[in-house]
Amino acid sequence: MNVHDSEHIRGVMEEAGFLLGGSPADAQVIIYNTCAVRKSAEDKVWGSLGSLSSRKKDGQTVVVTGCMARKYGIEFLRKGKTVDAILGIESISRIPELASMRISTPFCELVSTWDSSIESLPTKRTISTKALVPVSLGCSKECAYCIVPIVRGPERSRKPGDILREVLSLASSGVVEVVLLGQNVNSYGHDFSGGINFAKLLRKVADVPGIKRVRFETSHPSDLSIDIVDSIAEIDEVCKHVHLPLQSGSNKILSLMGRGYSKEEYEDIAQEIRKKIPGVTLTTDIIVGFPGETEKDFSETIDVLGRVGFENAYLFKYSPREGTRASRMFVDDVSEQEKQHRLEILNIVQERQTMRALESLVGSTLEVLIENRARKGEYFLGRAPGNQVVLVGADGLREGMLVSVRIVKAGKHSLRGVAEKVVGRSC
Ligand code: SF4
Repeated sequence: MNVHDSEHIRGVMEEAGFLLGGSPADAQVIIYNTCAVRKSAEDKVWGSLGSLSSRKKDGQTVVVTGCMARKYGIEFLRKGKTVDAILGIESISRIPELASMRISTPFCELVSTWDSSIESLPTKRTISTKALVPVSLGCSKECAYCIVPIVRGPERSRKPGDILREVLSLASSGVVEVVLLGQNVNSYGHDFSGGINFAKLLRKVADVPGIKRVRFETSHPSDLSIDIVDSIAEIDEVCKHVHLPLQSGSNKILSLMGRGYSKEEYEDIAQEIRKKIPGVTLTTDIIVGFPGETEKDFSETIDVLGRVGFENAYLFKYSPREGTRASRMFVDDVSEQEKQHRLEILNIVQERQTMRALESLVGSTLEVLIENRARKGEYFLGRAPGNQVVLVGADGLREGMLVSVRIVKAGKHSLRGVAEKVVGRSC
């Protein structure tokens, strides 16, 4: 969601005549689009603002937006004179005006309503044929560790008509892949009475002419209904990839986290997904070192990781987020050293699984959507339906092409392949 907000910021700035700068030193306006989900992300922002304070030039405007702006507000102004404006993400259309008027008094605008008007702002995407489309905003779950409901508000679904109009317009501009975004994307439509739900939305989006691929994230295990699993299995355009955060393999920790499912329930859903969607890629998020996590709890997480056999996993160390239930109720009692140790063990286990999953694809032919040129210019970077990154020789290819690719090699995190034939292209 944060990446998508940045696309709007770039769109707004470019429409107002600003260009993306090479370095902060040359910039007229420096924008921090911040994330508050993890402490390490916040520390980077504070560190960067600290080092900018001595280098800031006359006439430069520094803007902080995103979730840290909402969380810390005018605290940014108390920490020195570096920041000129603090804006809620809903107010980013004001950045060009603020940058042009050379602010003399620090400015703070954090409106208390969350709406989807940001979706009508211009967008500048890094991949021209792939678009992020939020379908719901905020989250109404109450996971103990999570700051999202506090900084993004309760869950609100966008109107299906607005979403479909946006997808139609994206398709007519050459977009072939859309990624439907929601903090808890599966519960889309719970706040409407018209019978629309996420399974139905998937079908409607996949039916838009020109859309060849539909992805979605992030799913919550409690809201991934059989209806949704069936839709993923049945609709050709929907990529066979489900990102389903597990967070812990211990029932005790899951209950403390307030996730609303047990490990057995999670494994049942995972099994159902694998049974109904052959060849599906199943990925997850896991937090290690949540308060109260013992060696035994941690080993249960390793066990579930192995039993489900995730193709990939994003692994994090717990860090208390001020304002969350976990930070109020629990002592952060797993030492930093122990968290690091558990993270490294889990990383080793998962890397082996990822490697095995990638190796199993060598010799197969996958449909790859070409996204952009790899840093080594002789290759294009594309994605297989299971979201694996595939490097393909660049001859005769261009962005937006759907190419049938024979996989010849597996690396640690990506595949290498040879293009056999073009099976489709963007307009
Ligand atoms: S479902 Fe996700 S976004 Fe919502 S509170 Fe839980 S972790 Fe946070």
